[in-house]
Amino acid sequence: MMKQWATIGNSMVKAAFPGSFDPLTFGHLNIIERAAALFDELVVVLAENRQKKTLFPLEERMVMVSQLVLPWKNVSVTSSGLLMVEFMQERGISVLVRGVRGLEDFSYEYDLSLWNKTLAPELETIFLAPDPRYTLLRSSAIKELASFHRDLSSLVPPLVEEALRKVF
Ligand code: ADP
Repeated sequence: MMKQWATIGNSMVKAAFPGSFDPLTFGHLNIIERAAALFDELVVVLAENRQKKTLFPLEERMVMVSQLVLPWKNVSVTSSGLLMVEFMQERGISVLVRGVRGLEDFSYEYDLSLWNKTLAPELETIFLAPDPRYTLLRSSAIKELASFHRDLSSLVPPLVEEALRKVF
């Protein structure tokens, strides 16, 4: 039922959820779960951003995220070095999903969505507000807490916690 509003003219609606996922948190997973319910297909896209220094190499993030999305049959994971709108056009993906935690995120995401609209007017950006439990959750805070060996079990999946424990 929920999918119907997004299914225009009976065609499959594919969405992309791009990010660094360095590492993936319950906040990301919550957006994935909700977007998977809204769209026929969801592609989680790990951005290959050479300028951005990450804690986990791309291959390791790919393995972790792929494992964690296994419960959803309509979710796949890939990486891309392309401009996101170009990636979407190549794959026939029409909706870009972003999570917006607060006003700071919003102003950045809003500008980005206008850039994307200018570049590719046929694509839409959808913002999802976080689950209130995860409003403060960001990967940078996770890494900081992990470096002080704090308990992360309510913030990240066990697989991610284990990977962080190995790093720190
Ligand atoms: P980026 O480097 O593109 O910001 P992130 O991995 O930090 O990549 O985030 C990817 C997407 O997930 C972004 O849209 C971000 O707003 C969203 N996101 C991150 N953490 C949360 C959270 N706790 N709740 C909801 N959305 C989130």
